[in-house]
Amino acid sequence: MKHNFGAGPCILPQNVFKEAASAVMDFNGLSILEVSHRHKDFVAVMDEAMDLVKKALNVPAGYSVAYLQGGATLGFTIAALNMMRDNKKAGYINTGTWATGAIKEAKKIGIDVNVLASSEDKNFSYIPKDYSIPDELDFVHFTSNNTIYGTQFHAIPKTNSPLICDMSSDIFSKEINVADFDLIYAGAQKNLGPAGATLYIVKDDVLGKSTSPFMPTYLDLKQQIEKESMLNTPPVFSIYVAMLNLRDLIANGGIAAIEAKNNAKAALLYQEIDSNPLFKGTVAKEDRSRMNATFLLEDESHQEIFDKMWKEAGVVGLPGHRSTGGYRASMYNALPLESVQVLVDVIKEFTKKNG
Ligand code: PMP
Repeated sequence: MKHNFGAGPCILPQNVFKEAASAVMDFNGLSILEVSHRHKDFVAVMDEAMDLVKKALNVPAGYSVAYLQGGATLGFTIAALNMMRDNKKAGYINTGTWATGAIKEAKKIGIDVNVLASSEDKNFSYIPKDYSIPDELDFVHFTSNNTIYGTQFHAIPKTNSPLICDMSSDIFSKEINVADFDLIYAGAQKNLGPAGATLYIVKDDVLGKSTSPFMPTYLDLKQQIEKESMLNTPPVFSIYVAMLNLRDLIANGGIAAIEAKNNAKAALLYQEIDSNPLFKGTVAKEDRSRMNATFLLEDESHQEIFDKMWKEAGVVGLPGHRSTGGYRASMYNALPLESVQVLVDVIKEFTKKNG
């Protein structure tokens, strides 16, 4: 039995894997992989996959959902292009690698980026809090969960400007109020489904108002929404599995239920790290991510022994991102509490032997 703490693509529910595998062999007599995206059977999948996003997140009227491609990386550009207005000025909060990437792409398309706050001074180990946001911005952008550094916004930035969020690594993990945002985007490959699709939730009011002189058809959210994500061939398999996963999420109590489970998993691991003299967390406690817990050994010479022990217990995906080192336990929706218990037991056992 494996316990997959990988940061993404990541664990999905086992029954979703089974249903997806069976549709590869038989989806109404064909394979899901060979059905035309224009066929009514796939159009029904697309419709359901969009509806379930609305249902799971209580998306209010006046918002639309789209499944596009290009990952959150293309989302950096799509967000900035579609939200550019007369000022061509935007505020970004820099909380790590992905926020830095979003800033870079916004600058490339001619946006004057005002970095409102940054936690780079302490290696992105906290979420900036005391900063002011000027009024004349086209939009404010932030990254709700910093997958690499293990920090998470537990309150959204306060602004009167349109708010844009890269929610790649915590969407569907906790309740959000969609009405707080003008645009949300997220790569599918954490809590939604397999890599390949990227989710957009956008306020209809903002569509078609970009002042960018450059707007390739594919990147125009207005056209994508009008064509119901069928402007070109969508990533059909990724969307199909996302639909299965959302069905599973809703059947198991929806976001409220998964949020409670996610909180329990994070509490179990952080409690152990905090009380254990051989380990230390890497980020400010109040800003800790409930999706990605980052931690270090106090004495790195123990690394070989610790690594051998967790590997023997069936744990996979624990090493930190290549840019940070240490350890990162990603505890996405489908990771059971029992897997976190296995990791905690390994940490306790290691401590007994080496403490
Ligand atoms: N933003 C965040 C918060 C992420 O975690 C990632 C990927 N892990 C990205 C952006 C980049 O996403 P993609 O690989 O889908 O382009």
